[in-house]
Amino acid sequence: MVDDVDGGDLHVHTTASDGTSTVEERVRQARERNLPTIAITDHDRIPDRLDDPVEVVDDVTVVTGVEVRADLWDTKIEILGYFVDPTEKSLSDVLEQARTYREERNRRMVRDLEQETDLDLDLESISANVNGTVGRPHLADILVENGVVDSVAAAFREFLAEGGAAFTPMERVPYGEVIAAVREAGGVPSLAHPGRISAATEDVEGMVEELADAGLDGIEVWYPYGESGPTRYADFGVADADRLAESLDLLKTGGSDCHGPESGKFRLGAVRTPRDELRKLRQVAADRNPSL
Ligand code: AMP
Ligand code: FE
Ligand code: ZN
Repeated sequence: MVDDVDGGDLHVHTTASDGTSTVEERVRQARERNLPTIAITDHDRIPDRLDDPVEVVDDVTVVTGVEVRADLWDTKIEILGYFVDPTEKSLSDVLEQARTYREERNRRMVRDLEQETDLDLDLESISANVNGTVGRPHLADILVENGVVDSVAAAFREFLAEGGAAFTPMERVPYGEVIAAVREAGGVPSLAHPGRISAATEDVEGMVEELADAGLDGIEVWYPYGESGPTRYADFGVADADRLAESLDLLKTGGSDCHGPESGKFRLGAVRTPRDELRKLRQVAADRNPSL
């Protein structure tokens, strides 16, 4: 049975990864913004609080999702999964693998940061201060708090972004495994922000075709790319994604990639998946999981 769903922000981080709000706080913020649906899409982790593929909390529909880094053509992509069963084994295994890769990367970056700065850092105590998955934004905060740099942007520019003094790439799970695991968990996979794929790959369309052949159902069309001018990313915007979704008959998803207050990215509900598209998405999930 498909509910009468309305538009939703389908890209939201919480304290389970590098967001600054809990699921409960997200629900409160959604109510304040007249946002009837949100999807929680943390990096490599599903908040413990979420037990089902979808639930209604204080009148807000909360879709259980995830955002997983994956490899395609030696290039980093991110795959969102929606309406996933958080208890399903193959998805849990893929997330655990992704977290192991992340931990290895964090360890190297912390070591390099110690060499590059006078800071005495220790990944265990950093992890202890973080609820969920440690990411580069946490390291950026530490650099700012210790006066090494005066902003998160500078922390990324000088140390953490590609080309920065402590940047270390993360190993990635092959895309086919991520897509298969999301589907095993009854979920619907969608390619996150295709306009954030490295410009070294000039064929985003070819990538999406390959992903679709592997079972990708959707593509994140609506995303706050901003107007940053030429970047190191492929030139592929909202209109391009919309066109590609039409031509490949893919679902269209979208969201704000909100990280919460104090993150520099507090924009919950600023980008939404329209009601009709959300309905289609939920229908595909319901076809896969009759309990929806
Ligand atoms: P990680 O998953 O540890 O690689 O960190 C990725 C996160 O870092 C993204 O979700 C962004 O929130 C943040 N991020 C990446 N690049 C930048 C940047 N140049 N400035 C600020 N935040 C960034
Ligand atoms: Fe992302
Ligand atoms: Zn995200």
